[in-house]
Amino acid sequence: PPTEELQAIDSAHHLHPFSHANELASKGPRVITSAKGVWLKDSNGEEIIDGMAGLWCVNIGYGRDELADAAARQMRELPYYNTFFKTTTVPALMLAKKLAELAPAHMNQVFFASGGSDANDTNIRLVRTYWAEKGQPERNVIISRWNAYHGSTIGGTSLGGMKAMHGQGGLPIPGIEFIDQPNWWAEGGDTKPEDFGLERARQLEEKIKEIGPEKVAAFIAEPIQGAGGVIVPPDTYWPEIQRIVKKYGILLIADEVICGFGRTGNWFGSETVGIEPDIMTIAKGLSSGYAPIGGSIVSDEVAEVLRDTEFNHGYTYSGHPVSCAVALENLRILEEEGIVDTVRDVTAPYLKEKWEALADHPLVGEAKIVGMMASVALTPDKATRATFAAESGTAGFICRDRCFANNVIMRSVGDRMIIAPPLSITCEEIDILIARATKSLDEAYEKLKA
Ligand code: PLP
Repeated sequence: PPTEELQAIDSAHHLHPFSHANELASKGPRVITSAKGVWLKDSNGEEIIDGMAGLWCVNIGYGRDELADAAARQMRELPYYNTFFKTTTVPALMLAKKLAELAPAHMNQVFFASGGSDANDTNIRLVRTYWAEKGQPERNVIISRWNAYHGSTIGGTSLGGMKAMHGQGGLPIPGIEFIDQPNWWAEGGDTKPEDFGLERARQLEEKIKEIGPEKVAAFIAEPIQGAGGVIVPPDTYWPEIQRIVKKYGILLIADEVICGFGRTGNWFGSETVGIEPDIMTIAKGLSSGYAPIGGSIVSDEVAEVLRDTEFNHGYTYSGHPVSCAVALENLRILEEEGIVDTVRDVTAPYLKEKWEALADHPLVGEAKIVGMMASVALTPDKATRATFAAESGTAGFICRDRCFANNVIMRSVGDRMIIAPPLSITCEEIDILIARATKSLDEAYEKLKA
């Protein structure tokens, strides 16, 4: 059917996540019909370079037949069986083993979920059960960060610090507390970045003291914050956080949903920022988005404590055999094709040079990048690091719309523009991505000046 017809059906029947239905209907959503590598094709036959790897997930790129074959093979062999009670399946156990190999040495057990949100729901129950089993049931508060995104379930939204999300549905649930992000560009004022990193980390210690250390179960954060704007913390931040969680014996949950599986140039973002988590949330790049799957990788210490009880928790699709088979094939490709190494040694350094040069653009303040996740802050005044104030988000939306028109997908978060392309992107494709991003910034700049 022609595009208009598809759009009309969509508007009539399809409620989209994170969308304003009337606004979407007025423009008509773009209908994506196929994809290969880093290139999407829409229903009008236009080719779009995907600077966001879908939702930060298609790490190996689109169109890998090996994953389709792995899914088809598994569907024929055993399309479904569960891992509840006293059964398991070969793909689930093999994936758990593979993840234990890839994860830091002290983490060897995995609890599977269907995605990142429900994996974080698992984490809330995991850490509270852990402390209850250790005879400290009152130790149930989880500290997170304002403006964090940890998913859209009731638990995920509660752990996240997005006030607009809390406002819909009466969240967060009890027992979640928040500290600020280490967003130096927007909030650092005259403080030097390294001092600001320490200040923001020390908010954790203040919060722990305010709540009472005997009541705090865990701290959750992304190694590099993604959906909140690819905020790269000053170097001083994570070592101080690690010191504080160790000092108070608090569990550290690293949400690796975006950072995991090569995004930051290592297998996990925790390696990149030098932390030792007790739990890692995984999803997205685990299957490169080809099948829904997520999970929680836990430390030997956590696993040991939980061994003595029945953890009354699980999803019909925990360890879904088709998703696990797809994830195993995805990890094989990431590993055997050396994709994470190529990101670290070749493509990310190439992108870094080009990306950081965007800081010279008249509309851009800071340009930040770690591995294959990068952001620029849009500003009307570089010297004062001003934002577009009352209309915060407007500049981002204008820029995002120009990107859309120029057939490059970038995300806007307030006054920041973000990319996180497939890890399979080549240097030639990076050139195209940067050229289209620059053109879009130029056009947005002209529009904002007018
Ligand atoms: N955690 C982080 C850091 C995320 O970025 C996301 C999704 O963007 C989630 C959790 C939620 O994952 P999912 O959408 O698979 O439920």
